[in-house]
Amino acid sequence: MSAPKLPGKYVREEELKFMPGIVEYVPKARYSFSAGQALSKFLEGLREGRIFGKKCPSCGRVLVPPRVYCEFCFTPTGEWVEVPGTGRVETAVVSYIGTMRERLEKPIIIGVVRLDAPGYREDSFDHAGLIHRLCNVTEDDVKSGRVIGMRVKPRWRKDREGSILDIECFEPEGV
Ligand SMILES: [Zn+2]
Repeated sequence: MSAPKLPGKYVREEELKFMPGIVEYVPKARYSFSAGQALSKFLEGLREGRIFGKKCPSCGRVLVPPRVYCEFCFTPTGEWVEVPGTGRVETAVVSYIGTMRERLEKPIIIGVVRLDAPGYREDSFDHAGLIHRLCNVTEDDVKSGRVIGMRVKPRWRKDREGSILDIECFEPEGV
């Protein structure tokens, strides 16, 4: 079955560009973003190669990334605490797709790193942590499950600007 032939003139795609009323416009959307009290200090710390969290005075957890209140206790968080940045891999994936959805020749490995921070129960799903790239970890480490529980530390970039990417990746301790 074919589409019925309707009266009128069919318009080709390239003809549309020359029709009256069609305007092409690339908006210059400029904006600034405030990271907020807690995240600003966190980002400034990253620029210095340090990782800061905020301690909840009620339950004692050190929240990393820091938040201004503890979502468990509904309490404003208090003192700043520097954590060593070491931790262990909770889970990881091998990705063949980049951040711009491009296909990657060499896959990247992304993991959830449970950071060493005071106040958390080891058997709890609640923890201080970051999602980041893992270096010096092979696809086989991920596919075999060897990466789970692996002790890791941050690898810092030399030129830091106050971004989560100031940490190039997390790599196994002892590398
Ligand atoms: Zn709390």
